[in-house]
Amino acid sequence: MNDPTTAYVALGSNLDHPVEQVRRALAELNQIGGTRVMRHSALYRSAPVGPGDQPDYVNAVACLITTLGPLALLLELQSIERRHGRVRGAERWAARTLDLDLLLFDDFSLNTPQLTVPHPRLHERGFVLVPLREIAPELHVPGHGPVTELLTRVRSDDVQRLAETARAGLEP
Ligand code: ATP
Ligand code: MG
Ligand code: MG
Repeated sequence: MNDPTTAYVALGSNLDHPVEQVRRALAELNQIGGTRVMRHSALYRSAPVGPGDQPDYVNAVACLITTLGPLALLLELQSIERRHGRVRGAERWAARTLDLDLLLFDDFSLNTPQLTVPHPRLHERGFVLVPLREIAPELHVPGHGPVTELLTRVRSDDVQRLAETARAGLEP
């Protein structure tokens, strides 16, 4: 067991009731052994960036505290993705029921195909930076700078906070 570490996870879904997928996943993150969700952002709707004609995404970011190591945490995230019916095809950035990306693991950095932290595209994504700033406005992304400054360099006008009704899962 490791000392408790703060980690940030990005959640995204654009298939099969995305609001519900993200809400359930937030609850499931809190059930990972040795792990607690300390804070999470509101849910946001964002325009898809992947190939083809995809539905909009629902996104959020959660701040966890965990005694797991980074790879063990990634395996837990992938197990939750599988439980949500995530199918990884050959195509990158295809529509999905649930994507859980490990954004940051304290100030740890690692660059392997299985796990790269900080997440290599975090600093260029409005749909990650907007919810991240909501829960961690003072955060510095190692190697890239303050989250507020990163947000000035990316497009984020297509990232919209969902209304209470949608967050409560009342929207179809
Ligand atoms: P992107 O990484 O651009 O957001 P994606 O989330 O759609 O794309 P996935 O299909 O979910 O990509 O993951 C592809 C591979 O990325 C996984 O097999 C996983 O091992 C690896 N990976 C590397 N770094 C990370 C990370 N920080 N978080 C999650 N997966 C990672
Ligand atoms: Mg992703
Ligand atoms: Mg992923």
